[in-house]
Amino acid sequence: MSIYNTIIVGGGASGILSAIQLDDKNSILLEKNEILGKKILFTGGGRCNLTNNSTLDEYINCFYNSGKFYRNAFMNFFNKDIIKLLEDNGCKTKIEENNRVFPVTDKSKTVQKTFIDILNKKSTQYRINSTVNSIKKEKDLFIIEYDNSKIVKSKFVILATGGIAYPKTGSTGDGYRFAEELGHSISKKMAGLSPLIIKERWINKLQGISVDCKIEIKTSKKSINKDEGSVLFTHNGISGPVILNNSMEIKKFLLKKQDVIVNLDLCKDYSYEDLDLKLKNDFSNNSNKTIKTYLHKFIPKKMSKVLLDNLKIQSDKILNQITKKERLIIRDSLKRISLSVVDIIEKESFVTNSGVKRKEINPATFESKIVDNLFIVGELVDGCGISGGYNLQQAYSTGVLASETIKERLNNDSY
Ligand SMILES: Cc1cc2nc3c(=O)[nH]c(=O)nc-3n(C[C@H](O)[C@H](O)[C@H](O)COP(=O)(O)OP(=O)(O)OC[C@H]3O[C@@H](n4cnc5c(N)ncnc54)[C@H](O)[C@@H]3O)c2cc1C
Repeated sequence: MSIYNTIIVGGGASGILSAIQLDDKNSILLEKNEILGKKILFTGGGRCNLTNNSTLDEYINCFYNSGKFYRNAFMNFFNKDIIKLLEDNGCKTKIEENNRVFPVTDKSKTVQKTFIDILNKKSTQYRINSTVNSIKKEKDLFIIEYDNSKIVKSKFVILATGGIAYPKTGSTGDGYRFAEELGHSISKKMAGLSPLIIKERWINKLQGISVDCKIEIKTSKKSINKDEGSVLFTHNGISGPVILNNSMEIKKFLLKKQDVIVNLDLCKDYSYEDLDLKLKNDFSNNSNKTIKTYLHKFIPKKMSKVLLDNLKIQSDKILNQITKKERLIIRDSLKRISLSVVDIIEKESFVTNSGVKRKEINPATFESKIVDNLFIVGELVDGCGISGGYNLQQAYSTGVLASETIKERLNNDSY
């Protein structure tokens, strides 16, 4: 029976980077899907926001309260390293708004394929269509059963199975079971970065439209947060980076049975007074325009008729026929669309904000503090980052750090 140096369980972003970094012919990655990096294909709306080009300090702040835990991993292998690795292998990248990095092809497939090409040049083996069923440790060796009866052994294991977000990509929570069976504890299961279901049905007609706005999240008692960014209308509510990033906070209040409202300010650069003055002037200066056409100044074309229908204002009314009352209604709704949150959509969440408790993992190496030579990386670690390329970077950085630690030990005589 083969005894490998390392077995990597899971071939997502963290497992692939672990395998690349190991570059060891006596190590193997086992992936249950028919392809490696399946989830990468779905990232960034099919464009793969592959990392974020911000500074280390900004990164630390982007992981809710778990950022410091990744300091070593990021210092060891950071955004510039993944960009260089991809670019050196033919995947050119570009930086967009908020330092988000994408492939110039705007296709996730380019990133996933480049990773596989890089891995193919390394000596680490990999096997697809191979589902790991159990992991045990006996003396100094891990015993791994896969495909229901096949057994392989190894000195090291890297658990890179992801969490439970988007289970159709293979992350079905197996890693939690493996970690628990090996003595670890898992934090309370919680979705991170989830879209919201909204009560007001009229916004469903806006599905697919994105607006840049300020948001304020409120309960009946207080303002929870003010933020700014892109909001995407969906078939039953809202999504987009600024909504995803606030979803966990919103869920906390929903769990306390409090009503939560999200107010959208579509004219963030105007105060109520300034906007009213502008509307008043423009309405008298552009008297032949319809209100529907005029509103394109502030909101996407497809949105103005839906908004006006909801306000019960005729969309083809010409500007000089708009009454003062109507003007004020228009102004108020440009400044505040109030949306009542029914719930977050956990099954559509982008990441899992739970996993193996961080206090049981050494942040200097990502080795388990409970089982020697077991490494836990990527989304399987408790916590998550905000939207913007941070979560993929966490997956690469933790995978690389684990592999470098293993390589060092393999070079040491005792192994
Ligand atoms: C729709 C969507 C869009 C996203 N967009 C972005 C984005 O643009 N930028 C960003 O930074 N982050 C994004 N994320 C988050 C990001 O994809 C994850 O944080 C990242 O993929 C986690 O990598 P991972 O390797 O830890 O886990 P995963 O990518 O989930 O990989 C785990 C792998 O382990 C395999 N596996 C699980 N159990 C077993 C088993 N028993 N045996 C063998 N194999 C197993 C799975 O099949 C899977 O391939 C997005 C997530 C989603 C769902």
